[in-house]
Amino acid sequence: MLDRAVVDALFPSDLPEPSFWEEQYPPRGLGEEAKVTRLGPSPTGFLHIGGLYVGLIDRDLATQSGGSYIVRVEDTDQAREVPGAVEQFTRAFKYFGIEPDEADEAGSYGPYHQSKREQVYLTYVRELLREGKAYLCFATKDELADITARQQATKLPTGYYGRWAIWRDKTAEEVQEALDAGRPYVVRFRSPGKAGERTRFTDAIRGDLEHEANRNDVVILKASDQSPRLPTYHFAHAVDDHLMRVNLVVRGEEWISSVPTHLQLFDALGFDRVEYAHIAPLMKQQGGSRRKLSKRKDPEASVEYFIEAGFPAEAVQYYLRGLVNARLAELPLTEALQAPISLAECGVAGPLVDLVKLDDICADYVATLSGEEIISRISDWAQTYDQPLVTLLSEERDIALAALQVERGPEVANPRKDLRKWSDFRPAYGFFFPSLFELVTDRTDERLGGLAPELIAAFAADFADGYADLEDGKEWFNQIRELATKHGFAPNPKELKKNPDAYPGSIREAAQLIRVALTGSKASPDLHAVARTLGTDEVLRRVRALTA
Ligand code: GLU
Repeated sequence: MLDRAVVDALFPSDLPEPSFWEEQYPPRGLGEEAKVTRLGPSPTGFLHIGGLYVGLIDRDLATQSGGSYIVRVEDTDQAREVPGAVEQFTRAFKYFGIEPDEADEAGSYGPYHQSKREQVYLTYVRELLREGKAYLCFATKDELADITARQQATKLPTGYYGRWAIWRDKTAEEVQEALDAGRPYVVRFRSPGKAGERTRFTDAIRGDLEHEANRNDVVILKASDQSPRLPTYHFAHAVDDHLMRVNLVVRGEEWISSVPTHLQLFDALGFDRVEYAHIAPLMKQQGGSRRKLSKRKDPEASVEYFIEAGFPAEAVQYYLRGLVNARLAELPLTEALQAPISLAECGVAGPLVDLVKLDDICADYVATLSGEEIISRISDWAQTYDQPLVTLLSEERDIALAALQVERGPEVANPRKDLRKWSDFRPAYGFFFPSLFELVTDRTDERLGGLAPELIAAFAADFADGYADLEDGKEWFNQIRELATKHGFAPNPKELKKNPDAYPGSIREAAQLIRVALTGSKASPDLHAVARTLGTDEVLRRVRALTA
């Protein structure tokens, strides 16, 4: 063990003692049931959908128990930090309404960026060194690689333990010599684990678990030649969750195997252990098998994907909550968003993310919104993603409202479900706006189904000449029906099928011609409703474009 003076000389002389931090971050004095939860995203990339998933569990458990929810940015791996990632986290939490209760300016347990907590970690590293529960390790990269290679060659578990832990039992003189030589070092935890030992712990989701005890002398403080001197994840987890008075750690199941290490660290530091809940990862069906959603392979693994496309936040929340607790998927949206999440009901098998299902949920949800609400939501989203649309929706609000009225609204039994996300508005409703609509002028356009160009021109001209903006749908449609007969179309598809050579098409193709002229598409909302919304002048302008 090193002398206290030697240890202390490694740290700034004004570094506070643990008691200082204990006072700075006192127990929260919340009710017994109150859960203090945290999400610890690392800014090494944009937020993963799994992060949002865990975040909404954290947010919910804190709220329902009268606790607090923290987002702690785990930015100790500065080399791998992605610019803009922290801002993206904030945007994502805001978009999905799972903002933390505490922030650097507003929370008394901050700062909530690990890179700003160097002093805190150093205090506790020094403490473990003073107590001989940690030691300096000067092993070089090459030495460590050699250790790993030899372990692999003899099929031993890799790691820094037992006889492989070459600096664990060095004498104070040897350490001093290395220090004097100015060699860089890391600080390692002196693991109390023994070969063959088992660690038992309880997980709030999985119940009693048992794992091989940790024997690895994990690094707790990164290399001394780096500035700032930051801790590793394991150490920061123990220190931060203790001082932030977190009492429930919800995190991905990939951390289960680290629990034995974490418990040793909590014990060595003299901290009360925290409760753990390890969440099964979100999965994707691929062919006949399931795999974890991967940011590299699946665009939907990034939360940004949902924000950019403008998925309605509450529908996504509803869907994800249904994956957390299947019971919630059975409830209507508003109820499910209110109903508490239960850890005991979380599955241990990773739930499948089904984007088709999510689309349906979103479409059902948007169908319950009024035109005004939809416009306001689209405008909010478009502020960031489609500025020209914001202008359009404000300048042409009447058209937008009228368009959204077509086959929609509470009085319609089967409202249209063509809006799943805000970015669907342009492709689905853009044609209603004269300023966006591109007239169909080419009579050989494939959307017109290959009808003879002269027939198209004649039909369109006739339609425009006699057009009446009738209120009754049947009467309105009769205009097409009569013209269809006049221009030699079969009265119905059946008749056409019987005698394909006798007709250019049936009434269906005739109506399709008008549909394409009015909407630019072969599929559209009810044609009569579209025509009424466009108004006579616009109908004539669009149909006449085919006669020019
Ligand atoms: N920074 C860790 C991660 O991004 C957090 C793990 C935890 O929640 O403890 O995986």
